[in-house]
Amino acid sequence: TMDPIGHRIQAYSQTQGDKVALIDERGSITWRELLQQVNRIANRLRDAGLETGDCVAGLSENTREYLALYLGTLVAGGCMVPLSGMASAEALTLMIRDCGARFLFVSRKNLDLWREFRDSLDLPAEQMIGLDTMETELSLPEWLGTVSDDATPAAVSLDDAFNIIYSSGTTGTPKGILHDYRFRQRQMVRMARFGLDDHAINLVSTPLYSNTTLVSVLPTLFNGGTLVIMARFDAHRFLELAEQHRVTHAMLVPVQYQRILAVPDFDRFDLSSFELKLCTSAPLRADVIADAMRRWPGNIREVYGLTEGGISTSLDCAAHPDKWDSVGVPTEGAEIRVIDEEGRELPRGEIGEIVGRAISMMRGYVNRPEQTAEMLWTSPEGDVFYRSGDMGRIDEDGFIYILDRRKDMIISGGFNIYAVDLEKILLGHPAVADVAVIGIPSDHWGETPLALVVRKDGSGESEADLLDWANQRLGKTQRLAAVEFRDELPRSTIGKVLKRELRTPYWEAPN
Ligand code: ATP
Repeated sequence: TMDPIGHRIQAYSQTQGDKVALIDERGSITWRELLQQVNRIANRLRDAGLETGDCVAGLSENTREYLALYLGTLVAGGCMVPLSGMASAEALTLMIRDCGARFLFVSRKNLDLWREFRDSLDLPAEQMIGLDTMETELSLPEWLGTVSDDATPAAVSLDDAFNIIYSSGTTGTPKGILHDYRFRQRQMVRMARFGLDDHAINLVSTPLYSNTTLVSVLPTLFNGGTLVIMARFDAHRFLELAEQHRVTHAMLVPVQYQRILAVPDFDRFDLSSFELKLCTSAPLRADVIADAMRRWPGNIREVYGLTEGGISTSLDCAAHPDKWDSVGVPTEGAEIRVIDEEGRELPRGEIGEIVGRAISMMRGYVNRPEQTAEMLWTSPEGDVFYRSGDMGRIDEDGFIYILDRRKDMIISGGFNIYAVDLEKILLGHPAVADVAVIGIPSDHWGETPLALVVRKDGSGESEADLLDWANQRLGKTQRLAAVEFRDELPRSTIGKVLKRELRTPYWEAPN
């Protein structure tokens, strides 16, 4: 029942105590300093009554305190629950009550938000702690007092709760995704193969409450590497930090690649230290990969997966330049299949829902056994797979292509239309900077595709011109009803286009 992760990081204070663990805008701290803070938090949590498996919620931007809290919670045997400051007070209340968090830590930036919901929680005041110094409320240094910085990690087993991550809620009520130690342990081993080990310098610019971020941050920490953390993403600052700290790794979402590559003096920065850039959470366009492979040293790995786990593929961009439209092949120990609406397995090449199983799968949704069960698909051989909710196909070489979320798929006159097919064609037009295709109501077809286009600066193309241009290139059953220009597309905090938000006004308005 020994916890290899807790013990592992403790050892770094002996074996590499003077090495830099973390760099932020305030400077750098060594592994010894980080672990002292981690141990103080762990000891104090236990003094305050935390027991193995109890939840500790954190509402903060990326800071060194937040990372120390994450590790401190684990050393104390607790289960971390990272929360998003972009969530509503109502959603946060729901999440904190749902997991039964015993403690809540809030950064100064999120205090106003916290004041909106603190009274609706059952938590006593002394269990809600400010992560940075505050005037009125209890702050971390005060709360810690003179507690010892030496700690023995709580004994936990691989089945014990590690963290709960709430889905962003774009699909309805937030669901708590429970990961155990086994899940993170296996991820740590897998990510070490991408070089996220003790030599890695990983530049973190996405929020820590998202699994997209944790997928690279936790292995870097557990393997004894160095993190450079940004509280807020800025493309130019990203490049400065990458150059200054000789960064080797970064996990970025697609829109960040586009913003970074668009920095006017991009080519002036020395990025030769980069070994590997990872990308996940949304499709990474082939033209963006091409641009990055040309101008940005180091390889790119596109990763496809769900916070729930079970589904895991990756694409080595340098090795497979002919497969940049795909998300690669299943990672080691993972398996992907495609099924139809009746749950029958489809042959290679046919489009259906992607299902998968992998060595890391969540334990389930917290308090939601029915929703956990709905997510499962059992193969004829009796193996349990996770349903992705994504439509896709597998090609003759075993590469996987994601076409659309099932709920974003457009069904027009009985034909299925996948937004990526249309988006890809529109992106081939020189005036198009960004595009999202959505289904809008049609009396005749039920649903019909509409393209929302962001034009490149200075282009004088009209909506009608673009519509004609695209429809000449699209199949009969795919034709666009209209093109509309937008200044930008709404995106989630980790850069996913919010298609539901784009669709809503069209479906609410009377036809
Ligand atoms: P919510 O359900 O609250 O909206 P979410 O589903 O966006 O949250 P995640 O588990 O992070 O939360 O997202 C998984 C989904 O992200 C996948 O089902 C897929 O639609 C999309 N996705 C992830 N990686 C890729 C990728 N490389 N290419 C295309 N789509 C991807």
